[in-house]
Amino acid sequence: MENKIYFVGAGPGDKELITLRGYKHLSTADIVIYAGSLVNKELLEYCKEDCEIHDSAYMNLEEIINVMDRGIKENKKVVRLHTGDFSIYGSIREQVEELSKIDVGYDCTPGVSSFLGAASALGVEYTVPEISQSVIITRIAGRTPVPDKESLKSFAMHQTSMAIFLSVNRIEDVVKELIEGGYEEDTPVAIVYKATWKDEKSIRGTLLDISKKVKESNINKTALILVGKFLGEEYYYSKLYHKDFKHEYRK
Ligand code: SAH
Repeated sequence: MENKIYFVGAGPGDKELITLRGYKHLSTADIVIYAGSLVNKELLEYCKEDCEIHDSAYMNLEEIINVMDRGIKENKKVVRLHTGDFSIYGSIREQVEELSKIDVGYDCTPGVSSFLGAASALGVEYTVPEISQSVIITRIAGRTPVPDKESLKSFAMHQTSMAIFLSVNRIEDVVKELIEGGYEEDTPVAIVYKATWKDEKSIRGTLLDISKKVKESNINKTALILVGKFLGEEYYYSKLYHKDFKHEYRK
């Protein structure tokens, strides 16, 4: 008997953006619990015809664990399918802690997080040489609190590239904190809605005008706010690929 649950990252939307290993687990699963509010349902086409499918949007943690527990007892292969990658706002920690209490193990297959899908959608690099060499992944505080030391305002001090999740419905508060924290008003911003889905949309602007553009577009969920000079006109070439740059492989 396989005494483990398979956690699989579904990728950001497009059904081809799951990994081969994720696809393999999904297509051999007897039970799938997927995050219906965000995972593209087309991915379920990969499941076996008689696969038992649960949408976790309608379930609480206890119900999720109960389905997993029953599946294991019935000797079934159970896949927990999370949007993007489960390591980013995936609530996987609480699931594995509960599983450990009932002596069930787990196996993880990563997925392409939406902040990577969004960069692809725009064809941009978060780490443009000499402009920004770090990416901050964060969110504004909502019903899930954010520790004080991680406020958007304090991160804004770094003026580096930011990918802000779960916050587009509060774009005005986001902009206010970022400007108070030190970003210039003309800092470029992009909103990417449903990155890699068929109905993907993106909006470009600056901290000064992005709130208005977001309101006009009616985007209020499933979007990322990307902020920073990496989206702007200034860039420098890398040293690594310069013809005079010698290293181990290129003498
Ligand atoms: N684990 C997921 C994030 C889950 S939190 C990941 O790795 O991407 C849910 C938030 O993710 C949404 O509110 C939105 O901010 C973002 N998100 C998820 N899918 C998205 C997509 N395809 N395009 C843009 N943002 C997305």
